[in-house]
Amino acid sequence: MSRHGLLVIISGFSGAGKGTIVKNLMGTGKYRLSISATTRAPREGEKDGREYFFINRQEFEQGIMENRFLEWAEFSGNFYGTPREYVMEQIKEGHDVILEIEPQGALQVKRKFPEAGLIFLTAPSMTILRDRLTGRGTETAEQIARRLSQARREIEKMHEYDYIVVNDDVNTCTDTVEKIIEVMHERACQKQELIDSFREEAELLEL
Ligand code: 5GP
Repeated sequence: MSRHGLLVIISGFSGAGKGTIVKNLMGTGKYRLSISATTRAPREGEKDGREYFFINRQEFEQGIMENRFLEWAEFSGNFYGTPREYVMEQIKEGHDVILEIEPQGALQVKRKFPEAGLIFLTAPSMTILRDRLTGRGTETAEQIARRLSQARREIEKMHEYDYIVVNDDVNTCTDTVEKIIEVMHERACQKQELIDSFREEAELLEL
């Protein structure tokens, strides 16, 4: 029986360690990663086509008009969107695709694809989150303040997720997320073929 590819959405507060967890998950070789398009400027060390497709606002708006995004959202003054074609192709081929996106986009995907699995990653507390964001030194004080107030708003979306995983140890957290993805495959909504085969068999056996 063929195993269908899953849409796995990973969101979480900025500074919750999503990047590291996703990197670890990709290291297992079990998943495909959707690379988003964004209008934000590349951070040091980021490469076009690897972390993001870095495009300008005009190109982004063109993409929206041409329906090239599965979802898109504005976050902290920039646009972010998931290119539709790659994701749909991979799922069709049976691959699980990870989308690392923020909650507005995650909920758009959930509405379009109710079988998508939504995982929210968080630091153990807001204080730890603030300290991690300050400590990583990739954002200015103003950007940090913006991301923390964004986190404040994201708290109100957490209950819409299927799973919330606290990241206090990166390896444990990665293992937990892997297990969750495994379990997502066993959900009844992924089992239509199995259900149909039981029905056919029952008919054949004249039960
Ligand atoms: P960052 O600027 O730190 O790379 O990302 C900021 C936020 O945008 C993160 O919460 C990240 O998950 C989210 N994000 C990245 N790509 C996408 C996307 O394609 N769509 C949406 N909705 N959010 C995204």
